[in-house]
Amino acid sequence: MFALIDCNNFFVSCERLFQPDLNGRPVVVLSSNDGCAVARSNEAKALGIPMGAPAFKYRDMFKQHQVKQFSANFELYGDISDRLTRLLTTVTSQIELYSVDESFLDLTEMNITDYRAWGDQLRQRIWREIGVPVSIGIAPTKTLAKLASERAKKDRGLDGVLSLAKLPDWLIDPQLAAVPIESIWGVGWRLGPKLRAIGVHTALDLKQLPRSRATQMMGVHGRQMVCELNGMSCLPLEREHKVRQSVMHGRMFGEDTTDFSVIEAAIASLTARATHRLRQDGLLAQRACLSLSGNRHKPGYKRHELWFTFSTPTADTGLITAQIIAELDKTYNRAEQCHRANVLLFDLVPQDSVQADLLGYVDLQQNTRSQSRLAAVDQIAARFGKARIGYAAEKLSQAWQPKRQLRSPRYTTNWDELPQARLSPG
Ligand SMILES: [Mg+2]
Repeated sequence: MFALIDCNNFFVSCERLFQPDLNGRPVVVLSSNDGCAVARSNEAKALGIPMGAPAFKYRDMFKQHQVKQFSANFELYGDISDRLTRLLTTVTSQIELYSVDESFLDLTEMNITDYRAWGDQLRQRIWREIGVPVSIGIAPTKTLAKLASERAKKDRGLDGVLSLAKLPDWLIDPQLAAVPIESIWGVGWRLGPKLRAIGVHTALDLKQLPRSRATQMMGVHGRQMVCELNGMSCLPLEREHKVRQSVMHGRMFGEDTTDFSVIEAAIASLTARATHRLRQDGLLAQRACLSLSGNRHKPGYKRHELWFTFSTPTADTGLITAQIIAELDKTYNRAEQCHRANVLLFDLVPQDSVQADLLGYVDLQQNTRSQSRLAAVDQIAARFGKARIGYAAEKLSQAWQPKRQLRSPRYTTNWDELPQARLSPG
């Protein structure tokens, strides 16, 4: 038996946690550079603001309906997500973190007699201890659990919890009939039209599709979906983190620039973040790619890519940045406006399995020195904060930083931005 715990309008709920006066009011959270809506409250959805709505197009509407806008505050959302994960791991260790706001729990070993009551209690506990509303779906397969959580979110009468556990088909099927085919986990916009073309419009239709037909149309994946909808579990909890194949960090600049030191600062900062992630995962990169591009929507749009191969695999911020900047310095046309930079590190190997090669290209000594140097940097950053230590190139300029003019305080991760509470006597 599985449960899916899904936070409702997660980014908006995080903002409301510290500004409860926003409950009941339309709220949107905007993407990088305050470009488009990436999260919407129910009230904003009801106004017809679609996902990905460009802020500039909706400016008048936002004003007219007093829609509260926020720049994305990923520090805050990440921290609230971690808190929820910690709470869920006290419920069971059988947990799969599916996304920043969704987790699957495997309830098989838990000896629950009344799933509905269990779901209600968990939902209330999350509300009390974390402060964000969630929808919970419970069912014998992950596909059904996901579908049940969607129903629990949409159908107000369900009070946020839908359990399909131990129910006969005649009680489950009306729920499936209410779910359009595109909303089923694994169907999406690609398979949706194909299925509609043969008269499969709802989850119930797909459940009743002969398995041979599903296999014929969509291979093993199709067969699995039909089995899962029929209550036969094919998708186990994925607990192991998949081994990372690459790390990418990219940013659209706050404003376009031709200033090489601004570009250099951006590259150094993006590389620092990417290499930090590599070190956290105990990995080294053998190759890298830098891409710089102009603004796609302006005339003369160009994109440049530089590729690098490291003879010694590395996660050293300084070494990688220096190599990228030196190469860019030779080739970059300084008259061109730069709008966006991406740093990609790939061909990754575990850091403790670097091997010497016959020709002596791999410098094991350099590798060891670099690893201990960076370990020290990471320890200092972990203890005193990321802003306390870094490479000088990162500090050359802040002008590339994306604009986030509407960001709320980082209430839970930054000492200077802690919320204040005032207690008045009486
Ligand atoms: Mg969600």
